[in-house]
Order: sequence, then C-alpha cells, then structure tokens
Amino acid sequence: MAELNAEHKGTVQPAAARLWANRWLLAAGIVAVLAVHGLAGASAYVVLAAIVLLLAAALLPSGGARQSIEDATAMEAGGLQRLSGEYLAAAVADPLIIFDRTATIVHANAAAFAAFGGLAPGMSLSLKFRAPEMQALLDSVLSGTVASEIVDYTEKLPVERAYRVSASSVGHATDLYVLVFKDQSEARRIDRMRADFIANASHELRTPLASISGFIETLRGPARGDPAARDQFLQIMQNQTGRMARLIDDLLSLSRLEMKPYLKPGTEVDLRQTIDSVIDSLAPLARENGVAIERDFVDGPLDVPGDRDELFQVFENLLENACKYGQSGGRVTVSIERDGTDPEPGIDVTIRDYGPGIPEEHIPRITERFYRVDVESSRTQKGTGLGLSIVKHILTRHSARLSIKSEVGKGAAFSVHLPSA
Ligand code: ADP
Repeated sequence: MAELNAEHKGTVQPAAARLWANRWLLAAGIVAVLAVHGLAGASAYVVLAAIVLLLAAALLPSGGARQSIEDATAMEAGGLQRLSGEYLAAAVADPLIIFDRTATIVHANAAAFAAFGGLAPGMSLSLKFRAPEMQALLDSVLSGTVASEIVDYTEKLPVERAYRVSASSVGHATDLYVLVFKDQSEARRIDRMRADFIANASHELRTPLASISGFIETLRGPARGDPAARDQFLQIMQNQTGRMARLIDDLLSLSRLEMKPYLKPGTEVDLRQTIDSVIDSLAPLARENGVAIERDFVDGPLDVPGDRDELFQVFENLLENACKYGQSGGRVTVSIERDGTDPEPGIDVTIRDYGPGIPEEHIPRITERFYRVDVESSRTQKGTGLGLSIVKHILTRHSARLSIKSEVGKGAAFSVHLPSA
C-alpha cells in the first residue's frame, strides 16, 4: 500500500520538481546546443531547441520518483522493525494480554493492569481467569483448532463489568497469543434502561386500558339499563383515554428530543414574553387549585438563544408541577434575574412553591423517566412521570442547568440557568 502511494506520488510530481531532478540532463543539453551554434549566433532554432529540451526535462519521470518509492518501502520496513509488541499493546486502549502456548502471561498493557490488577509476566492465565467460559476460550485457541474465538465474560470484582473477550493466535511461528477485552458494561446498561423504559411505558398504558375495558364490560352487562351509572362510567372512561393521550404525547416529545440530543437551537427567545404566555395559559389550572401566581421579573431585555416552543414546554411543566404539587402553599412565584457572575453568564428563571416540598433523597432521581415521589398523588394530578425528564432533555440541548432546592414542609424551588450566548 505504501508502495502504491509512493508510485502515485511519483507520477503527479510537480513539473518544477522534475526540472530540478533532471537539472543535469537539462544543463548538458543546453551546453551542447550552444556549443554547436556558438553563443553569439544563437538563432530562433537554437532557442526552440532549448525550449524542447526544457519541456522534455519537465515531463520525463525523474530518478527521484523511483527513489521516493524505495524511501517509502524502507521507511515502512524500518518503522515496523522499531515497533515492538510492547509499544503496540500500550497503544491499544482496551485491556490486552499477550500469552504463550502454556497460557502464561508474557505481557499485559496498562489498560489490563488497570482493569484486572495483580497481573505479571509468568502468571498463569487459567489461574487468573477461572471462569469456565475463559478456560474454554483459552483451550480452543491453544489447541489450534481455531485461529481466533470470542466469548462474553463478566468480571465480578471490584465492580461488575461485562466484557467481550477475543483470543487469537499471533501466528508467524511466534508461538504467542493475544487476548483483547472489550468493555460492554455501558452498552448493557443502556439496553437495560431501554428495556425498563418499555416495561414502564407499557405498564402505564395498560392500567387505563384495563380500566376502560372493565367499564365497557359493565356497561354491556349489569349497568346496561342504568343511565346514571352509564354517565358516571363514560366520564371515567373519558378521563382514562385523556391519561393515555397525555402519556403518548409525552413519550413522543421524549423520543423527538432524544433524536437530536445536542442539536443547538439557533434562534433568540424573549424569555419575558415566553414566560408571560406560560403563566397566562396556566391561569385556569392555578385558579382551579386556588394558587396565586406572582411575577418578579428584572427590567430590560431578557433574550437567550433557544427554541421558543421547547422553552415554553420547560416552564409550562415546572409551573404546572408547582401549581399541582405545591397547591397547599396557595401561591407560586416566578422570578427572572440576570446572572453575570457565573463563569457562564446568563439568565436565571426560578419557579418556587410553598407546598409540601420534596424529601432530599428523591431530588437526585426526580428527573428520571417515570420517577415519582408519590405515585398516587401524581396520578390524581394527571401526571405521567415524564414531565421533568422532558425538561432535563430540553435544557441539555440548550446547555442550560436545572437546580432543585427544597425543604420539606416549606416548598420547592426549581431554577433554570440559561446561558446568554
Ligand atoms: P408528573 O407527571 O408525575 O408530574 P414529573 O416528572 O413532572 O412527573 O415530576 C416527577 C415527580 O416529582 C412528581 O410525580 C412529584 O412527585 C414530584 N414533583 C415535581 N414537582 C414538584 C413540586 N413542585 N413539589 C413537590 N413534588 C414535586
């Protein structure tokens, strides 16, 4: 491959370089022409002959091209000779162990030391990795029946980690073999999270569905001729379909956001106007819950880069939660202030309620999907358990921060710091 490149480079060598490479041929030609015709009598033919020589020298492949091919080949051979197995192992980011035909460690790279500790040349691999799958892997590659083999292996201590391990023979009569460990723990964790999410979402949808189907049965059976019961059951069924629709809307919002997690919004959003319209849109809910919404906005322009619809959804979710869960406090304050002291200057929006607050142990998990402090109160408040998770996703896209402070019995404050650039 290196040869191919060098040859290619030779054919496209610039004319100036070829002139230089063929300089002796060129000089000899010009001297010969001048010698035949004499310097003084240089005619148009002489000039023409010199030009032809000049062109020939520029177009002729030079000896330098051949030289550069040889140089590249020599460089490659020299480079590979300098490359020891140890250097190569050190350059591999995954744990890597070189061993001999008796399954004894010959060399382990730094990543292998960090992952497994207590490794040393001369140590038996079979004693270090006693799991049956590792023994089978070593047996199959050492028996020579296969050149390479892969197994899944879990290291239990100090923390559980899942690896995909490949063993292969180095070959070329070295009598050496190599083990490479690919850490799969993060991929497994994501798979588990996805499976949990699907299980949770299915459960959330199945509950209202079971209730609707039960009421349909009752309406067709025992309550068939009872108009009062029918009205009551239809109302419940309507509430349940509303709950399913809200859940599907939230699931769709989340999946849309997950598809573009770091896509930075490019427009400017007027926070004063946006938050005013959030407050207006939630006025009926606040009235229903007996909550007064108070504003405390700093003067002057309050623009930040962002997506207006998404930021509307953030403040709508936070204010809705404050009106619902902080209802007993009777009031909610929405304040906007400029924060120039931060290493990342921007605007802080805080939504504070004076309700029961959130116990400290729940705060770190409250933005997880389907996490609720009190499942019953979330259900009666028409919650889906996804509101704060959507907030977190949108704020990540805006490089913004959410901080939650709460004292049980005194209320909760959700602050959003939006960078101004
Ligand atoms: P939900 O749809 O259940 O409201 P969220 O993700 O918006 O889901 O909120 C998760 C949980 O956090 C809620 O179920 C509630 O228990 C708790 N929570 C959120 N905001 C407040 C608040 N202002 N005061 C007390 N608890 C809150």
